[in-house]
Order: sequence, then C-alpha cells, then structure tokens
Amino acid sequence: MKTISLLIILVPIIAFSQNIPNFSTSFCSHKSSYNITKYTQSQIGNTYNQYYLRAIWEINPNQLYIKGNLTYYFTMTENSNSLSFDLHDTLTVDSVIFHQNSILFTHNNNVLNINLPFILNSNINDSLTIYYRGIPNKNANAFDIKKYEYNGDSIPCLWTLSEPYGAKDWFPCKQELYDKIDSCDLFFITPSKYKTAANGLLISEDTLNGKRTSHWKHKHPIATYLIGFVTSEFIESHRYIHLLNNDSIYMMEYSLINDSSAIETPYHLDRLFNLYDTLFIPYPFRDEKYGHMQWKRAGGMEHQTISSVNSFNWHDMYVIEHELAHQWFGDFITCGSWQDIWLNEGFAIFGNFISLEYLWSYYPDWYPHLIKAYHDDIISQPDGSVFVDDTTSVSRIFSGRLTYEKGGFLLRMLRWELGDTKFFNGVRAYLNNPDLQNSYARTSDLQQALEEEADTNLTEFFNDWFYGEGYPIYNIEYEQNNDYSTNILISQTSSHSSVSFYEMSVPIQFWINGVDTIVKLHNSTNNQLFTIQLNDLIDSVIFDPEYKIISENNITQNINLINNTNNIKIFPNPVKDEITISLGNLPLKIKHIYLTNIKAKQTQLQFTNSNFQKINISEFASGSYIITVETDKFNFNKKIILE
Ligand SMILES: [Zn+2]
Repeated sequence: MKTISLLIILVPIIAFSQNIPNFSTSFCSHKSSYNITKYTQSQIGNTYNQYYLRAIWEINPNQLYIKGNLTYYFTMTENSNSLSFDLHDTLTVDSVIFHQNSILFTHNNNVLNINLPFILNSNINDSLTIYYRGIPNKNANAFDIKKYEYNGDSIPCLWTLSEPYGAKDWFPCKQELYDKIDSCDLFFITPSKYKTAANGLLISEDTLNGKRTSHWKHKHPIATYLIGFVTSEFIESHRYIHLLNNDSIYMMEYSLINDSSAIETPYHLDRLFNLYDTLFIPYPFRDEKYGHMQWKRAGGMEHQTISSVNSFNWHDMYVIEHELAHQWFGDFITCGSWQDIWLNEGFAIFGNFISLEYLWSYYPDWYPHLIKAYHDDIISQPDGSVFVDDTTSVSRIFSGRLTYEKGGFLLRMLRWELGDTKFFNGVRAYLNNPDLQNSYARTSDLQQALEEEADTNLTEFFNDWFYGEGYPIYNIEYEQNNDYSTNILISQTSSHSSVSFYEMSVPIQFWINGVDTIVKLHNSTNNQLFTIQLNDLIDSVIFDPEYKIISENNITQNINLINNTNNIKIFPNPVKDEITISLGNLPLKIKHIYLTNIKAKQTQLQFTNSNFQKINISEFASGSYIITVETDKFNFNKKIILE
C-alpha cells in the first residue's frame, strides 16, 4: 500500500510527460557488436567442468588495457592432461601455474591450450592460474571506455559487455553455453579515485598506496557472458526493497558522478519486483542483491545481479523493466544455444508487456501503442523465424524484429491461447524446474512445461510460430440473419510458404448499440464456418482489436453467406444407414467429407470423391458424430446421430 500512495504523490511532482515514450527496440542493439559478422563457435573446454573462479584484474579506466590472474577450479570429465580456454590472440599469456609450477601452453587461433604435466583422471578436482595482460580486441567493443564531462573534468567510464561472443576478448574463459561457473570471487584493482561495480555482493573495498581493491563475491552459478563490471567515479546508493510478502531485496545503485537520477527509480522498482515475484517466482538472487551500474553506452545489459544501464530517467524505465526480467529469464535460466535466444529476450520483452499492462495502467494508451508498433514492425516483412538459423551472425541473433518483438509476441500468443492461469502456471513450472534452474534451457523445455500445465500439445504451435516463418493473413466474411444469428467464415493464407495453416484462437469484436463483445473462435481448419447467436443488429466488426495474434486481416460483409449455408441440407438426422448431402443449387464443389466420432474424437471416415452426395455409413458404431463438408469455398459442420 505504501508504494501506491507514494505513486500518487510522485506523479504530479515530477510532471511526468504524458507523451508516449519511444519504445523502439533500439536498446536491444546493446549487444557486443562484432564487425566480423561470422564467428566460428569454439568447442573448447570439453575435458572439464569449471566450478569456481577467482579473478584478480588490474584496470585503469583511462587505458584500454587489462592485466589479470584467474584461478579456475575444475572437475575433470575425462582422463586427460589437456585443458583449453577461449582467449583472443590480442591478449598475451605470461604463465600458467599448476601445483606451484609454471607449465606449458599454446595460444593461437583465439584458444589457450594448456598441457598438464600428467594426466588427471575423470572426476578429479584441481585448479590452475592463468596470468595474462594486453589490449582487448577493439572490434568487439566487449571492453570499452568512454569519457564524460563533470565540473570541467573529463571522467572515464570503463565497462565490459560480453554477450554473445565477447568474453574471450578480455579474459580466458569458456565462452559457450554449457558450463556455468558455480561461484566466483572478483577482485578489481584500480586507481583509488575510481570504484568498480560488479556481480554479487561487495565484500570489501580497501585503498592502499593510491590503489583501490574492490572484492565482489557471487555465490550463484553464472554464465560466462553475464560476468561484467563498470569502473568510473560513482555516486552509490543502497537500500532495501520491501516486498508485499515481507521479503526484502538489497538494492545497490551506482550512478555516474554527473548523474544522480538513480534516485528516481525506487518506487517503480518496488512495484516491479512485486509484479515479477508474483507472476514468475521470487527473485532468484534475493540472498545477494539487485543493482544497476550506469555506463556511457546506449541501452542496457542484464549482468547477473547488476544490470548495466545508460540512464535512470523515467523514459528509460523500459530498459530497467527489461533488464530486471532478464534476471529470471537469461540469468537464472539461460538459453542453452543462441538459436534459442528468444528464451532470454522474448521473456524480457514480455516483462515489458506485463509492466505496461499492470504498472502503467494510469497511462492506458501506452500498452496498446507499444503492441501495435511491435506488431506492425513484425509484419513489415513476410518472413523470418524466432528460431535463430544463423548463430554466426550477431545481428541475426539479436534481431529486433524477430528475437525481441516476435519472441515477445510468441509468449503473448501462448498466453492468449492457454489463458492466464495455465500460461503463468507453465512459466512458473519452467522456472521451478531444478534441471533448468541455475543452468541452461532450450525451447523444448519451455514447451514441455507449458504442455504439462495446460494438458495440451503445442508441437504445431511451436512449428508454426517458432520454427516457421511469417504469419497468417486472415479473410473474414460475416452475415447476420433475421434472428441475429451470425455466420462467420474464417479463411487464411500465409505470408510465407514454411507454414501452410496457423491453428489459432481468433478474436472477433462485435459492436452492437455501443457495446462490444469479443468472441474467441478456435480456427482449426481453413475456410471454417462458425455460427454465433447475437442479440441485436451488428453495427461494426473488428478483427483482433488488441493484436492478440500476429496477422494481417480483412473483414467483409458477405450477403450470400447465410443464403449459401442455409441452402446446405444434410438429412435424415438421426440417420440409420444412408445420409444425403444436398447443396441445393449452390455452385460449390465438395472436396472432402469427414465423419468425426465426438466421443472418440477421431475422424473415422474421409471421402474424397467430389461427385457423390449420398454416403452409406451403416458400418459405423451408433453415436454422435460431426459431419464436416469441406467445399472449395468454406467448410460446413453439422452434428448427426447415427442410430
Ligand atoms: Zn534483453
């Protein structure tokens, strides 16, 4: 309750602009931007699992240079005397120490191969330390500096951004998505005027002889690309976020010394945490902290327990919401392949959707505005899948239109199809799966969780919407009868040949006397005819007014529809042996006739002869059936009883 009263006071004071913010996914171009678009993924590190990292880095934000020694603790997964790490060739390895001795290594083609003096057997734990230094690869911008002005001084800001392939540009690591480091201690030695913000909890900060050593400790498994830091002159603020369930979260804000706007975020963060904790699961890193570290780069990045952000201004709340959602989706459970990056980004966009829906409801225009903008951008091109078919292209992995917008819409469509209860239960089941927590997931893991909670099969949905390209183009024809019963014919084509038909629940809004009714029609076959009962004359009809489905559509009134369907006769009913289908004098051609046993939910008979109009069905068991007549114009369904 406290947060709500605070909100009412705050809004007029800050004269929050009512203009709709720019929700473009440009902030999504925040990923490490390789100039080389082709990158060959490495297969290093197969002989061991890393379980602990102690990193000591010496850095100065005035210099594009890093010097470090990293101690990796590992468990051998096979008998071997070889370990390898990703490390860019621009960095120099001075030595590798194993059991107090300097040992042999080679470093070329961006791989550091270490030769142990003897074979370590599978399941043996051991450790080694790598001493290295150099100027990180400039092309990837994974380790970068920008200066800003403050009181006439030029202040440097140094940051890292490793996703997807940039970690090896500044430290020896396993860059691929299969082995999280279980815990780590990160030490940063800088000139004493600078502070460093990083993952986990700040254990100590000591200054000696003009140097500051900041020690951060993180006790949760972490993907390599989520290790990150920012070094600059900071204003720090610390507080607790109090949740409605009496839990609290330690919050650290590091804002650059020329910008104290971090003080504007608190009330919104309280609400955000409450929303995500409720709809997802409790914040996974609540035993440590959440935080922001401001950098001089555009956009944000979801470094684990501390997101990098460009600004704390109200109009950048969208980034704050997005990066926080990533702590559940991306950090706690990480995509297990860059093919499945939508498991990170689609959910982060979905975090934006629910933030707008639940928290920004006092600006009701914003959510529909965003949805329509994303929808229109998605259909601006007829092709493209959420599944990333080329993981060597960083721009394809982080495609704003496909990974972010269509990925977010895919989750929104699943929510629409399954309903809120089943959808959110499925999402929570995914987050609560011990095999995925603190580890990696593939799209099939999310599909399975949703299928189990909703007791349904989503194979076709994922084939159409995740692997398939494009979207459906609907053509809706309707006509109202004298008793206000209304026939609706739903036909669709596809914008791309990879999907022939999208089975979806289709929302159609009917306006009658100033009141609207949205009808959800499950469109399972093409040219499907529905009949609904309305209570008065229709004033207007709108297809999918809330953009539940990615589609193009066209609605027309067809005065012949009722006449046509009323002309179709199927008799007798009940039937004993022979049933007659009469099309009257309609110029229709029968393509198929299906007989579906309602109880068994099985189609038992398919006729493909288009000329006959009498069918003998005496050989079938008595019971209730749906007879479907598929014509070249539309499908007609009728329930019949077989005696
Ligand atoms: Zn993101």
